[in-house]
Amino acid sequence: MIHFSVKIRLYPTKEQVVTLAQHFGCARWWWNYALNKCIETYKETGKGLTRSAMNSMLPKLKKEVETEWLRECYSQVLQSVSLNLSRAYLNFFAGRARYPRFKSKLRKQSIQYPQQVKQIGSNLKFPGKLGIVKAKIHRPLDGEIKTVTVSMTSSGKYYASVWLEKEGTVVVSNTKENIIGIDLGIKDFAITHDGNKTSKYGNLRHLAKHQKNLKRKQQKLARKQLGSNRRNKAKKLAARVYERISNVRQDFLHKLSRKIVNNNQVVVVENLNVKGMVRNHKLAKAISDCSWSKFINFLDYKLSQEGKLLVEIDRFFPSSKTCSNCHYKVDKLPLDIRDWTCPSCGTHHDRDENAAINIRAEGIRIMQTSLGTSDAAKGGNVRPKLGRVSRLGDSL
Ligand SMILES: [Zn+2]
Repeated sequence: MIHFSVKIRLYPTKEQVVTLAQHFGCARWWWNYALNKCIETYKETGKGLTRSAMNSMLPKLKKEVETEWLRECYSQVLQSVSLNLSRAYLNFFAGRARYPRFKSKLRKQSIQYPQQVKQIGSNLKFPGKLGIVKAKIHRPLDGEIKTVTVSMTSSGKYYASVWLEKEGTVVVSNTKENIIGIDLGIKDFAITHDGNKTSKYGNLRHLAKHQKNLKRKQQKLARKQLGSNRRNKAKKLAARVYERISNVRQDFLHKLSRKIVNNNQVVVVENLNVKGMVRNHKLAKAISDCSWSKFINFLDYKLSQEGKLLVEIDRFFPSSKTCSNCHYKVDKLPLDIRDWTCPSCGTHHDRDENAAINIRAEGIRIMQTSLGTSDAAKGGNVRPKLGRVSRLGDSL
């Protein structure tokens, strides 16, 4: 089975806008209520609430006078909230996400229909009160509609993100297509090469200015008397800056990994020994700022959700020092040297671009070796197993 998603602009009528606002409100209320229950339960028992434990609270709430308006909401929308909240907890415990947060009505609003949404012409038909909503579907949806998330942006636009499933397996038909190599760097966070094109993606150095701010706030905090009101206030301020830094970082990592996963079947990265590198003090802060290992984690789970492949190559592979044109290896290439000329073939290299090309090539080599011969790989019957294949590399 292949899974993929399509984003569709929706044009609800005035009545539907009201219905959607109701649903957003109910879903948000239920999320916050259930999250609160989870936090209480966690404090008491050290465990979260399961999805079914959350769902079992709903019938009673719908009978109580203060919360009977929950009945207005299509019940599966509320059950999706329970599912997403329990997943958010799992992701948190697996270190993939931050702790689930309370939802505010000032942010983007969304609800989820886990099933029974249908395409009717260029419109979408939702179960329950919402009904048929005018949409802009450019191509017929090629697959079975699974989950549909309806969202409203803060500027008031409506979208449906449709998760589709169709028969078939992800096939690496030609092992050189849709493969991207990524070099993770300091000057640029990520440098990618897809066989034709090299792209560079921002760095997180702009966070340095927040970091300075944080340091200042923390110093102020340290000077305040324990237990004083001023200390509490300073603590809150520092926490807010810290949260802003991690939000900006997390957002960047999610967006970039999503983009790379959408456009590629196979992603090749270096297996980083981040611990080893952090020991180098000069680099340390930049590295932790850049959150490489988190990024690889994001790539990994997004790829495996879609049956795609992450290939991790050995971190001792000399990706920077090898000429991607003639494979000549230079002895030394200090970090501050950003570009160099190959003494053997005379090719002029941008340091990071050259590394990304080499990483991609090494990934292809590992895949071809671990899949048998390169001819077999070209045959197209290779179905990557879910998860990382760095193990394949190790076992060679
Ligand atoms: Zn060369």
